[in-house]
Amino acid sequence: MRKLNLSAGHSVTIWDGFGKPALHQADRGIIVNNPVQRQLVEGDLNARLRRFISLQLDYLGVEYTLDHDESVLRDSIAFFRKLVKPEDIAIEIHFNGGGGHGAEVIIPENPSKYERKWGERMSKLIAETLQIRDRGCKCEKTLGRRLGWMRVPCENFLPEICFLDNPKDVEQYFKFKTVLVLKLADLFKEMREDI
Ligand SMILES: [Zn+2]
Repeated sequence: MRKLNLSAGHSVTIWDGFGKPALHQADRGIIVNNPVQRQLVEGDLNARLRRFISLQLDYLGVEYTLDHDESVLRDSIAFFRKLVKPEDIAIEIHFNGGGGHGAEVIIPENPSKYERKWGERMSKLIAETLQIRDRGCKCEKTLGRRLGWMRVPCENFLPEICFLDNPKDVEQYFKFKTVLVLKLADLFKEMREDI
């Protein structure tokens, strides 16, 4: 069985989780002022969604590994690099921004068949559940930049749940987030068992 590693993109505080101030600046991700949901902070939403999914995984009896909510990307990568085997799964939850709408999943340049297959399924599942556009699965290259997360040496996925700067996407997320948690947990369980 493949091992499941779940990270939440960005960090929610400048603390390192061990009571010492982190050396890095806090990276809270996208911050948007939304008229209904007030201030949306991506790092916070990523951490909340991951916590909720991990509770459902506990309920299903599915094992997983988490890094600290407070870890900045560099620390998360170092943490997971030590743990993973090539067949393992590393998923880092993010929300998108920059003026689009819909769900997408980023996979590495030159993806494996497994990354392509499950990246497409993950994007479709998020889009269908939230009833937003399915932007599909995208290779890192099409973004024009390299992502640190893709350097964890295993099967990598970076879901961008929806656009935080799109009020309709956000409305759909808050409406369907509970069912999204249940469906993503089922999907992650299936991904572990696909060998
Ligand atoms: Zn992000």
